[in-house]
Amino acid sequence: MSGLVVHSARKLDADGRSDDFWLVADGAHITTTGTGTGWRTHAGAADVTVIDGQGRWLTPGFIDLHCHGGGGHPYDDGVEEMRAALATHRAHGTTRSLVSHVANPLASLRESLGIVAELTATDPLVLGSHLEGPFLAPERRGAHDARFLRDPEPEAVEELLGAARGTLRTATIAPELPNALEAIGVLIEAGVVVGVGHTTADYAQTARAFEVGARLLTHAFNAMPGIHHRAPGPVMAAIENPEVTLELILDGLHVHPSVAALLFREAPGRVALVTDAMAAAGATDGDYRLGGLNVTVHDGLAVLSGTDTIAGSTLTQDAALRNAVTLAGVDPVAAVTALTRTPARVLGEDHRLGRLHAGYLADAVLLDHDWRVRTVVADGAVLAG
Ligand SMILES: [Zn+2]
Repeated sequence: MSGLVVHSARKLDADGRSDDFWLVADGAHITTTGTGTGWRTHAGAADVTVIDGQGRWLTPGFIDLHCHGGGGHPYDDGVEEMRAALATHRAHGTTRSLVSHVANPLASLRESLGIVAELTATDPLVLGSHLEGPFLAPERRGAHDARFLRDPEPEAVEELLGAARGTLRTATIAPELPNALEAIGVLIEAGVVVGVGHTTADYAQTARAFEVGARLLTHAFNAMPGIHHRAPGPVMAAIENPEVTLELILDGLHVHPSVAALLFREAPGRVALVTDAMAAAGATDGDYRLGGLNVTVHDGLAVLSGTDTIAGSTLTQDAALRNAVTLAGVDPVAAVTALTRTPARVLGEDHRLGRLHAGYLADAVLLDHDWRVRTVVADGAVLAG
């Protein structure tokens, strides 16, 4: 098995910061870590790749729970486009991804879920699917095509679960829809983490969804009622429940940096930074498609063409980290945690992903002092840099 040594880096992960850090990987896993010069005894063999961190930041690989495409490629246009989009996000430090599906007819959702099931079986960096549509509130549909929204009838839920063949990891639901609480139960039973989102639900309805087992708030503040002093809404219900994780799109556009900072303060260790990126992430301004809808991107802001409805972001996870630290003033350890251990925990993968620690998968990102990606490692192999 080939080996990897990364040394002389400034480690940042959920366990904290550590200077002059090194790690050794054998195959896909980290076998040893330390500080100082102990790495030298592991660096001699011919098949060992040695990376000098030169005092740069070293974080675990980023995990993105919510993404629709990148590099000019949408996830919902076949496997080659999906691969190309994943490659863009990997170059920006995302080593493990969920593929998000927007609302579409059941037949095309079945097909997309099937493609991701195959990809998940062959590419360990793909963790499975996130079903964002179709069980969403029409009034809060955002960039989901109204024609394809539906109530979560049991047959539809079973049909989509079947098509995913065990690779549906998360699903977003508006809990006020008919049958929604039953559907949440069925999804949880099948091992799916349920998120509340694209919803008109109030505080009590959202709290009820969390009581029956929903564990995630899909892009907090976006496509849901905000916090009002007499109507606290879904975000307050999520903040108050210590078992719930809040997704946050930190591009400086979806949520004001000051409100982003508030979430980090009020729900420490429970904010998961997501991109919710569409095809234009890591690509240029212009015209794109998201599901069946036209999207125009100008100065990095994606809107449904001819409207001011935001249609996904153009974020990559390295930019989300940069924004967390520089725009929202979040402590770097908390910011990195929101991209690594927290999303790993949401998926029940925190025993093998999200920390730079012996026994964990060797996913790591080396970043400059201004949080630009230099090198990306996944499963112990250099992906980019
Ligand atoms: Zn959304």
